[in-house]
Amino acid sequence: MMTQYLGIKAEYPDTLVFYRMGDFYEVFFADAEKAARLLDITLTRRGQSAGEPVVMAGVPFHSLEGYLAKLIKLGESVAICEQVGDVATSKGPVERKVVRVVTPGTLTDTELLSDKTESILLAVHQGARNTCGLAWLSVTQGEINLAHCASEELEMWMARIAPSELLYNVDVTPAFEQRLKTQRCAVSARPAWQFDAALGARRLLDQLKVASLASWNAEDLKEAHAAASALLGYAEHTQGRALTHVRGLQVVRSGELIELPPTTRRNLELTQTLRGEDSPTLFSLLDSCTTGMGSRALKSWLLSPRRDRAQAASRLEAITHLRGGLQQTLRGQLKGSSDVERITARIALRQVRPRELVALQLTLQKAELLAPIQHGLPALLTNIFGDLQPPEGCAALLKRYVLDEPAALIRDGGVINHGCDADLDELRAIQTNCDAFLLDLEGREKARTGIANLRVQFNKVHGFYIEVTQGQLDKVPDDYRRRQTLKNAERYITPELKTFEDKALSAQERALAREKWLYEQLLDQLQDFIPALSRLARALAALDALCALAERSLTLNWAAPVFVKEPCIDISQGRHPVVEARLAELGAGSFIANDCSMTGRSRMQVITGPNMGGKSTYMRQVALIVLLASVGSYVPAASCRLGPIDAIHTRIGAADDVANAQSTFMLEMTEAAQILHAATPHSLVLMDEIGRGTSTFDGLALAGGIAAYLHNKTQAFTLFATHYFELTEFPAQHHGAINVHVSAVESGADIVFLHHIEPGPASKSYGIAVAKLAGVPAAVVNHARHALNALEAHQTEARAQVDLFAAPPEAPAMEQSAVDKTLATIDPDALSPREALDALYRLKKLS
Ligand code: ADP
Repeated sequence: MMTQYLGIKAEYPDTLVFYRMGDFYEVFFADAEKAARLLDITLTRRGQSAGEPVVMAGVPFHSLEGYLAKLIKLGESVAICEQVGDVATSKGPVERKVVRVVTPGTLTDTELLSDKTESILLAVHQGARNTCGLAWLSVTQGEINLAHCASEELEMWMARIAPSELLYNVDVTPAFEQRLKTQRCAVSARPAWQFDAALGARRLLDQLKVASLASWNAEDLKEAHAAASALLGYAEHTQGRALTHVRGLQVVRSGELIELPPTTRRNLELTQTLRGEDSPTLFSLLDSCTTGMGSRALKSWLLSPRRDRAQAASRLEAITHLRGGLQQTLRGQLKGSSDVERITARIALRQVRPRELVALQLTLQKAELLAPIQHGLPALLTNIFGDLQPPEGCAALLKRYVLDEPAALIRDGGVINHGCDADLDELRAIQTNCDAFLLDLEGREKARTGIANLRVQFNKVHGFYIEVTQGQLDKVPDDYRRRQTLKNAERYITPELKTFEDKALSAQERALAREKWLYEQLLDQLQDFIPALSRLARALAALDALCALAERSLTLNWAAPVFVKEPCIDISQGRHPVVEARLAELGAGSFIANDCSMTGRSRMQVITGPNMGGKSTYMRQVALIVLLASVGSYVPAASCRLGPIDAIHTRIGAADDVANAQSTFMLEMTEAAQILHAATPHSLVLMDEIGRGTSTFDGLALAGGIAAYLHNKTQAFTLFATHYFELTEFPAQHHGAINVHVSAVESGADIVFLHHIEPGPASKSYGIAVAKLAGVPAAVVNHARHALNALEAHQTEARAQVDLFAAPPEAPAMEQSAVDKTLATIDPDALSPREALDALYRLKKLS
């Protein structure tokens, strides 16, 4: 057995191998030590292998899921090795095989997957010329995604894709590997030959059952083909079979999507709070979907808005239509729908459970009722309703094969419906008719033998028998064979009873085998429905997501944005949806709505005002409204006009980290640098308190420089919140910028925040009032107030008159060297090889 185990383990060196032994999965040697540590299970030592005691640990087979879930969460992979041979007939150890490998990025088990999040597997290929090829999929979805990106954009792509597991070529450069390893997901190196572009292209054609990738314009994406090769190879390897349900391809191109860098996702708390929780976030507020499929679709919409407005416009049109009452009816009907998408994948992978099939059948019946007969529907809804037609005959097939309330696993039987198969019905009839047959036999034997107290019975050890008491033995006929002798009775068997016994005992076993066979037949027949079921799943998901957005827009009183061609962000009475919901929940007063008007000519707002005044909230709400509109949702505002947008960049300080002051500032500058490089006139940039991480003058000077660069060079729509009061002079010299401030009023020594954005600079910094509000002792507050008065009195004389925003003098031009001068005179195209060589010698002499 150890030889068998070690043979299997050799094929899965980096994976924990769970080796089935009777009612347990056992792990051995180093795997055992790791599993014992991670799962907190007991290590034991047994027997010997190669002279050493065998270290092992085990988990009961029926609690496998729980242990798997724990290991997957920790980023481990597990190969499940089952007994596939027949225990009764095999000599030596039963044949065993790895039936599947469970890894973080290829999960299919309902118990291991989160309803609302896809588990995504991503393969990254480091190509030549600074290009990376990406290929990714979720095994429970029917689509492969391909993309090319520049190496420096990789982090942004990985953040957008948010994989659970990442594959890369073992031959990549160490620096590249390091970048991948900083991702918060499981990473595995795969052999180099698996990243082969030609193999990948062939695999894609096979997978999609097409002759060319031309219709996706994906023929030239060589690096992505190489990644796809590894991706598909690995996914099939884990499932132990081909992914027949994966038939779709999507090519995502740089420049098609609105850029939402990782920092933006984090700072805007789109799907996770800054503390890493799921709620309250924009997604948790939006997600009133009734199905997991809907939630997953909505999340993916939110994180991948397109620059082109066609998709957003069609969603908006659909939502507007659904708001007219249809949304409520549809949501009622969608409620309780099963996860058709995941069930479909599990049918294809032949892992589906009986109860999932019942759930699917019920959903198919419901889907039939969903599509309303309506004319004049928006195009998107027409398409969705078209796809909602359940495949002909699928529900009927399921109903015919599966009991209404089947057992949880086919392993136990009790799954296949009555009347589905004559053989099964007969086998089952034997079991249920047992009692009647025995009574009948007893009656007949009593009459035949004249033994009035003869009894036909059954026990587990001896099977069926006819019992005759001592006094009646002389009446026993010749065809009775003695089976067992008791003190005052004999037990017999007859040929008829023996035949019945064989039939009854094997009936149960045969019924179970027949049920398993019929289940496989059913799965075979269901394969034909997979494309239609995938389509239906996508339609249900999209409808659910649209209905959720319609419901939210009504409940939260949102308005439809309007897209325009000219550059602008024009929001009237905008609100921060999450802060507003939170205030309502706490009963802490109402949210103060604010306008924001930026145009081609007025692109920058310098925002000042007291801490806690609402600067961050205002900036974030503008970004969230822009994002929501770009997704195609209604927005938390009275109205919104939006010009073209290509990115949302944010530089918002994390809470001050005293221990890491140095690196915090470094991070601040790194993020600022990325924005200055990447932003365009169509980008929205949020800069919160830039320069705070260093000394006042450094910080102020940098903040001024950054503001000037954004205004003059980048010309992005910029919201620039600052505590440097000096920056309020910026707009006076820069025609595209204006001052705004968050209002507050002082009543006596106290301060009241009005959270209202008003034109012009803040009049004071109110720092001392805020400190008092925060509970700083009165003595300190008094001290500070005196000191401040003294400082302000000296301010005018002490402050140097420096123009912060003036462009620096041109750097002196470098004098040309002799080599440079000579080089300038050479025209390589006009030289013969001989002359070129001479020129080279000349240059060498000059240097
Ligand atoms: P700042 O960035 O100026 O320090 P914040 O934007 O963090 O201030 O706002 C501080 C708090 O004030 C928020 O947590 C929120 O509770 C409240 N607040 C901000 N803006 C508004 C608003 N427009 N209406 C109501 N409350 C607000």
